[in-house]
Amino acid sequence: MEGTSLSILVVGSVALDSVETPFASVEEILGGAASYFSTAASLYNQVNLVAVVGSDFPREHLDFWRSRPVDLTGLQIRDGRTFRWIARYHMDMNARDTLDTQLGVYADFHPMIPEAYCHSPLLFLANIQPELQMEVLEQVSRPRLTVLDTMELWIITERRQLTEVIKRVDILLMSEEEVRQYTNCASIVVGVRQLLALGLKFVIVKLGSYGALLFGAGGTYFSAPTHPLEEVIDPTGAGDAFAGGFLGYLSTVQPGPGGRYAIEDIKRGVVHGNILGSFVCEDFSIGRLRTLTEYDVAARYRALVACSHFDPDWRSVQVGAGQ
Ligand code: AMP
Repeated sequence: MEGTSLSILVVGSVALDSVETPFASVEEILGGAASYFSTAASLYNQVNLVAVVGSDFPREHLDFWRSRPVDLTGLQIRDGRTFRWIARYHMDMNARDTLDTQLGVYADFHPMIPEAYCHSPLLFLANIQPELQMEVLEQVSRPRLTVLDTMELWIITERRQLTEVIKRVDILLMSEEEVRQYTNCASIVVGVRQLLALGLKFVIVKLGSYGALLFGAGGTYFSAPTHPLEEVIDPTGAGDAFAGGFLGYLSTVQPGPGGRYAIEDIKRGVVHGNILGSFVCEDFSIGRLRTLTEYDVAARYRALVACSHFDPDWRSVQVGAGQ
């Protein structure tokens, strides 16, 4: 897509996933939050990937990223096994159980940000341990925009460290359940207010197959629809592809004075996030993202505008005409 020179730095997991859905199962396919993010965001601009894999990591995946604008200088290849994640989805594919997590080389991982990446203006901290996310923040020099993702595991086991990271980023991505878990509030609106009070500029609440909500510290509220998929093959990585579409789109626009993005651009970014998130569900692993083009994204963008636009002039329909 039309790009400026804004590169995006991502730090997160690259994994081999085994996934079972009610309809199919696959073993040892390319997974990991950073894999989904990099592949999605590289449709828009250059991505600098920082992660670790073991010596067993299939070369074909590296070759694929080399064929895209994904810089692998920061990808550590260590002796040992690549991180493995095994999960099973319920019939409601918004819900899943993690059956096993095998850390492998990921157990001793410490992100090392190459000098050339330290000034990346856009940073995505994928769902790795909060301590590691903090190590990244200590190494980079003031990105223009930092987006943070997390997961239930860290909310439960590393809440204090996670809170310290939240206080240092601009935008937090959380699912509806994660907002409730972290804030202990039944109401998402009240929970998000607590999160914004930690100093965030925006909180984006992911609603799985129902889209996403954007809440801004200045009072912005925006509900972004998503594409109604007829068939979900595998929703793994939808959140990471969302982040890739969001930051990917923002990497193509010029922020205003002081590096601030226009609110309309942030909203467009959320829509791009939903679009990339919906495409990733159409196949296992990054299968659908491999062939995705900017024309596919543009077509889905137009379809979302059409399905979410409604007439603001409600008085013209004569509400209560018969009374
Ligand atoms: P998502 O579906 O967006 O939540 O992302 C799922 C991806 O996160 C999978 O491809 C997993 O390999 C990866 N993942 C699962 N558990 C962890 C973990 N503890 N740390 C880092 N990545 C993980």
